Amino acid sequence: STPAAIAAGLAVGARRGLLIKGGAVLEALRTINAVAFDKTGTLTEGKPAVTDLVAFSGDEAGLLARAAALEAGSTHPLASAILAEAAGRGLAIPPVQAAAALGGEGVSGTVEGAALFLGSPKAAGARAALAAEQQATIDALNAAGKTVAVLVADGRAQGLTALRDEPRADAQAGLDALKAEGIRTLMLTGDNERTAQAIGAALGIEVRAGLMPADKQRIINELRREGLKVAKVGDGINDAPALAAATVGIAMGGGTDVALETADAAVLHGRVGDVAAMIALARATMRNIH
Ligand code: ADP
Ligand code: MG
Repeated sequence: STPAAIAAGLAVGARRGLLIKGGAVLEALRTINAVAFDKTGTLTEGKPAVTDLVAFSGDEAGLLARAAALEAGSTHPLASAILAEAAGRGLAIPPVQAAAALGGEGVSGTVEGAALFLGSPKAAGARAALAAEQQATIDALNAAGKTVAVLVADGRAQGLTALRDEPRADAQAGLDALKAEGIRTLMLTGDNERTAQAIGAALGIEVRAGLMPADKQRIINELRREGLKVAKVGDGINDAPALAAATVGIAMGGGTDVALETADAAVLHGRVGDVAAMIALARATMRNIH
């Protein structure tokens, strides 16, 4: 019977790490013809590593120690990388007061009496003037597919850290599997245009960059108004509204608790190809019913 087929489909998915929250979600998954992915931690490993440290004033160790202080309480993938780098160099991390995550921008807090911000060049540029030479350094790092976080102290840019996050091993194959099913693929990212295009071009995916969490939600709504059935795949860090706006919100393995709560489905093993597998499972299950 129909409920039995749905239950069987859900069970087959669960055994393969494809968590689908009920028959209505399975039905919606069948109709998906566009999939929008986050970049960091979704299309990429989400395990960036620090590649460059550039101090505009003072030394690299001081720059990194203050950056690490700000990131101490952050769950963002960039935070782990910065903390690991500081630990690897045996740096003492000063305490931070009033630490705050600014969605899609970076982190702020007070360290050793100074009001600090660490985050995207765009967000840093709104808090401090970046010299042409500093901007040129940022542009070159971005063109190499690296993400840059700029440290600002009391309205002055202090330096930057560049990080690279490699695409997941199966990202290319997973996107190709979706395209082979006639499904449109997009990357929605808060990262800057240059970095995002460098990664997007390598993977062959449409790119929308420089987005705030609210922009991602707006784009999902626009795609839906165009008549597309849109799945949004993300780790949910700052992106819960976009997950909720999608026809089907899919949390990527190792995602945050909030993502797992907001999402309609989850791919627990963190494989891009599992998104294609989940849609294929929904289509196959529903074919047995209709
Ligand atoms: P994505 O869409 O790639 O997941 P986010 O929206 O999480 O990106 O973040 C957008 C940008 O904001 C990052 O590329 C980075 O420059 C900056 N950023 C956000 N959070 C942090 C953080 N904790 N530390 C440093 N930079 C951050
Ligand atoms: Mg993110």
